[in-house]
Amino acid sequence: NSHRQDKDRETNVQVLLRCRPLSDEEQKSNVPKVVSCNENKKEVTVMQNIANKQVDRVFNFDKVFGPKAQQRSIYDQAISPIVNEVLDGFNCTVFAYGQTGTGKTYTMEGGMRNKGGDLTAEAGVIPRAVRQIFDILEAQKADYSMKVTFLELYNEEITDLLSPEDNSSRPIEERIKKPVALMEDGKGCVMLRGLEEESVYSVNEIYTLLERGASKRRTAETLLNKRSSRSHSVFTITVYVKETVIGDEELIKCGKLNLVDLAGSENILRSGAREGRAREAGEINKSLLTLGRVINALVEHSAHVPYRDSKLTRILRDSLGGKTKTCIIATISPSAYCLEETLSTLDYASRAK
Ligand code: ADP
Ligand code: MG
Repeated sequence: NSHRQDKDRETNVQVLLRCRPLSDEEQKSNVPKVVSCNENKKEVTVMQNIANKQVDRVFNFDKVFGPKAQQRSIYDQAISPIVNEVLDGFNCTVFAYGQTGTGKTYTMEGGMRNKGGDLTAEAGVIPRAVRQIFDILEAQKADYSMKVTFLELYNEEITDLLSPEDNSSRPIEERIKKPVALMEDGKGCVMLRGLEEESVYSVNEIYTLLERGASKRRTAETLLNKRSSRSHSVFTITVYVKETVIGDEELIKCGKLNLVDLAGSENILRSGAREGRAREAGEINKSLLTLGRVINALVEHSAHVPYRDSKLTRILRDSLGGKTKTCIIATISPSAYCLEETLSTLDYASRAK
């Protein structure tokens, strides 16, 4: 019986750690490395020299991926089982969390695809998940349909990354920011009004949408001053599979997968930002901080989960907690120059376990 209770209280939050390699430039200028990963022991060690004394800190995770880890191995080991849950009718979320420049977008998007729609070695979680979902449903000869949304959350405002190009002469801010309203019914069911929901029928169709969304995000980034380090992007794929039950009754199984590229975690530290940026930094903090609190509450089985405190957690509410699976991929740099941020990411991520 106590075993049964343990099982009921099992958390469905998995935390992985990925350390990127030093870039060519960093290698050329001999940037010192302060992180070592032990994949077998699922352990990360940060080497610190304080007042001429070597002080190491060790962190443990559900899985650890060192600088040599390939996109495919991360997907196969950590994400593929989650996608199977989605096809079984569960709502699941994968987050990339970490300092800007540590590989969140590389991990989630990577190189999206080759010419011809095949996956490259560089392809990240999103294109691989899309591929796996289609491959499984096709192999099962399932009767299915699929919907995709792709949004950006910036300053607690939601922007649709799939809305058609607006080439009017209106200011760029307005063209990029097509307002999307978050609405809620009394039962906590959330709806996003004004968000394009595209029905998709093939892998290539989704890849085209993804590229459109990702390029829109990059445009916004260049035009609006490094916006992407302060914005969250949420790619959601909802799968409906028709099941025939004994008798004539038809049943639909519905599962949802959210793939979230979070704002740079340095935005949490720099909350006392300069004037003008203060509001922005504060708002970013709100979604990132609230996400941390929500995950802590879920892991600790608290009675109160503060979903309502930020847009991000409201949007993801039906996919966090209860019968859902959550995976956090925390990304870090091995460089000595990132030490402070790295420790802060490791602390945040190990608290989520
Ligand atoms: P973030 O989204 O966290 O700001 P990016 O994904 O843009 O970071 O990564 C920064 C740079 O590092 C990019 O040029 C990316 O290609 C490279 N990079 C990140 N992670 C890896 C990795 N694991 N292997 C090789 N290159 C990586
Ligand atoms: Mg990025």
